[in-house]
Amino acid sequence: MAESARDIERQILGEVWTSGEIYNSLLYLCDDLGSRFGGTESEHKAAEFLLQKMKEYGLQNVHLEEFPVYAWERGNCELSLTAPVERDFSAIAMPFAGSGEFEGEVIDLGEGEAADFDHAGDAVRGKIVLSAAETNRPGEVTLHRTDKYRLAVDAGAVGHIFVNKNPGLLHITGALYAKNPGGKKDADHEAPIPGIGVTHETGSMLRRLAERGTLQAKIKLQNRTYLSHSSNVVGDIPGQNADEIILFGGHYDGHDIAYGAGDDAAGTLVGLEVGRVLAPFAGQLKRTVRIICFGYEELGLGGSWKHAERYTDPSSTEKLVFVMNLDGAGRGQGGQERINTTSDQAMQEYFERWAGQNHYRIDTNNRISAHSDHFPFFLAGFPSGTLNSSDSTAGMIGRGYGHTEGDTVDKVHLRGLQMGSALAARIAIALANEESLPTKRRNESQVEAELEAAGMSNFLTHHWGRDNRVM
Ligand SMILES: [Zn+2]
Repeated sequence: MAESARDIERQILGEVWTSGEIYNSLLYLCDDLGSRFGGTESEHKAAEFLLQKMKEYGLQNVHLEEFPVYAWERGNCELSLTAPVERDFSAIAMPFAGSGEFEGEVIDLGEGEAADFDHAGDAVRGKIVLSAAETNRPGEVTLHRTDKYRLAVDAGAVGHIFVNKNPGLLHITGALYAKNPGGKKDADHEAPIPGIGVTHETGSMLRRLAERGTLQAKIKLQNRTYLSHSSNVVGDIPGQNADEIILFGGHYDGHDIAYGAGDDAAGTLVGLEVGRVLAPFAGQLKRTVRIICFGYEELGLGGSWKHAERYTDPSSTEKLVFVMNLDGAGRGQGGQERINTTSDQAMQEYFERWAGQNHYRIDTNNRISAHSDHFPFFLAGFPSGTLNSSDSTAGMIGRGYGHTEGDTVDKVHLRGLQMGSALAARIAIALANEESLPTKRRNESQVEAELEAAGMSNFLTHHWGRDNRVM
């Protein structure tokens, strides 16, 4: 590494470790603005705040990138059993669930993986599916909520009850996809069948009761889906080759039932912090480091579908070199950072080499995940990865407190934010200054082949987020 780059590193690390700015911003986003749920006033105010921060820090070309979205307003949700006992349960609707009364026999599909649906076959038709929401233990790849939901819809289910895998009386949430994405009416953008989330404890009780006999359930919902807008917040630290872009950022929207502190105020603020500490070094790095705070990730990766278009536009002179998604960065106490490269072994090896040379212990992984903001860029052929950190101290699986009422500020710590920011900023410098990176943009057939090799070719035709887009 050139002496000057090392010098910049020393200064930015000093800045990261002596500032509490990032934590104050976390408090403002969560305690003052709230959940920042996609398309709502709270999300719009957060965009304005992040825009002002980027300007204050001296990032350049700072702007909002607006796009139309469907927003969703939560109303009443009732879940009651009529057999084998009469009982009411606490449950919440999942975003884009519609309104009405639904009744049916409940079929327990356990984890709700593809094999469980295969095994049940036609028995699912006309019933309400009961399954785990997301079940993956660390490192395990299993179906996403929306994939399970699609299997239920395709099998003719009339409803889907998702169970949180983690105990603690926490309801699980997560967006569903639109029944008629291209439609012009608000109702076209509601989910095809109702999906609701229940706690681990409710799920356990339903399963115990199911062993006594047929479970009959009633679901009553009152929700509203309406047209709105969201925005990405974008700012640059221009490099000497200004048109070569290294993109860093996480999403700033959260789910309406909590504060989205760990998912993903932490990650978006790690990106903003990288911008803050690098802004004084404009013109000193080879490539441009572009900071983005993605809007509307939770309800359909809206911000990343939108922003990826900027680089696929044939009239654009910009060349997107690498995308680092920060969804989940800065969580925990620090020291459990990891990088997942998106089907890019050469870059995985690059990050491992970088860690070795910089005396940093970092876990790496190389696989395709279709469910965060790097994915639209991957589909468009751009090399990408995700830098985040696990909070395994909680001993939870899957999303942990994410997508529950428990995703609150007290789970996020300044040290974790600083650790994530320090690593992200150093990696941004490395990627911006590297003579050439061992990766390049792929064409359409290469992307298709990689999805196929990963058993994910279904995402070429169906992706819940793309299906939810307003064009
Ligand atoms: Zn997230």
